[in-house]
Amino acid sequence: MNRVYNFGAGPAMLPTSVMEQAQKDFLDWNGMGCSVIEISHRSKEFDALVTETDELLREVAGLPDDFEILYIHGGAQLQFAAVPLNLLGLNPAHKAAYLETGNFAGLARKEAQRFGNVTVAATSEDTNFNRIPDFDPSTLDADTSYVHLTSNNTIFGTRWNEFPDTGDIPLVADMTSELLSRRLNFDQFGVIFAGLQKNLGPSGMAVVLVRKNLIGKALEQTPSLLNYKTYADAHSMPNTINTFAVYMMNLMLKWLKDQGGVDAIEKVNAQKAELLYNLIDSNDFFIGTADKAHRSHMNVTFNLANSDLDKQFVAEAEAAGLYALKGHRKVGGIRASIYNAMPLAGCEALAEFMKQFAAKHG
Ligand SMILES: *Cc1c(COP(=O)(O)O)cnc(C)c1O
Repeated sequence: MNRVYNFGAGPAMLPTSVMEQAQKDFLDWNGMGCSVIEISHRSKEFDALVTETDELLREVAGLPDDFEILYIHGGAQLQFAAVPLNLLGLNPAHKAAYLETGNFAGLARKEAQRFGNVTVAATSEDTNFNRIPDFDPSTLDADTSYVHLTSNNTIFGTRWNEFPDTGDIPLVADMTSELLSRRLNFDQFGVIFAGLQKNLGPSGMAVVLVRKNLIGKALEQTPSLLNYKTYADAHSMPNTINTFAVYMMNLMLKWLKDQGGVDAIEKVNAQKAELLYNLIDSNDFFIGTADKAHRSHMNVTFNLANSDLDKQFVAEAEAAGLYALKGHRKVGGIRASIYNAMPLAGCEALAEFMKQFAAKHG
């Protein structure tokens, strides 16, 4: 077996031990003589798996009891519609404020505009989203239903180091590319959502953490399968849940617990990111694209000083077992996505490759 170090932005690499466990369980899960994807989502065995996954998530994330955990089809971007449909009605003005820090923040804002009065309260578009813009929550109208931000900007390689204090106005965060990679103070948030495919498992499902008092106020036109109350009332199984995705997330949570949990992995993530940023900053061959003060610990974006070499860099890296380093077309250059599952050794191997490539071509 030859597993590469996979720096793809998502669906992203999962730990080999998790993949091996899934392989081992696949034909005969839990001694049932069939696969976890071949049993009813209404069976007591599957319900126990969802309950165990809830408990693991609460424990690993430190999630307080006043948050509901929902598993919802459709990945992260379906939440771009679910959030306004569920939250705009918190205030009759149907106003929402969006902090535009990149591609996904913009898509979320555009989707919300279909349903309510949306303003862009801050943006960093003028510098191609290479930074987190200043934002003063006191400028918000008091009748704003919620504020939306993207905590880590997957394409541009920036993150919010600290989150704005929006007071009584619920803060909604798309944490698809960093949930469980850093410790959070949940008191600051109303809703947090994440597609699984970066840090938590396969694509196609989102985990949504919603403060319980925000559930049950959806706009009337909300489809029932986008209404948080439908999911909260049915332990996320109003219809057939993505059973395999829940199973994989369960394994990912157990793996994270074995690594020492969020606090431990946050330290490793900082070390991994620092290793790459230090190399970029100390070598004229590489130019970091994100503002130093707002650099992501999950997606390291950089250009080669000579962009003619981009293709060759990516190809030679791939030949060396360092997979999927091509940057997103909106930034160009190189992007190394280093989610929880990327070991420190993967970043060390990339740093070594970068040094050698620079020495050869510099
Ligand atoms: C990857 C990503 C998405 C897209 O998720 P889908 O599951 O494909 O809808 C949304 N937001 C962020 C921050 C992402 O990184």
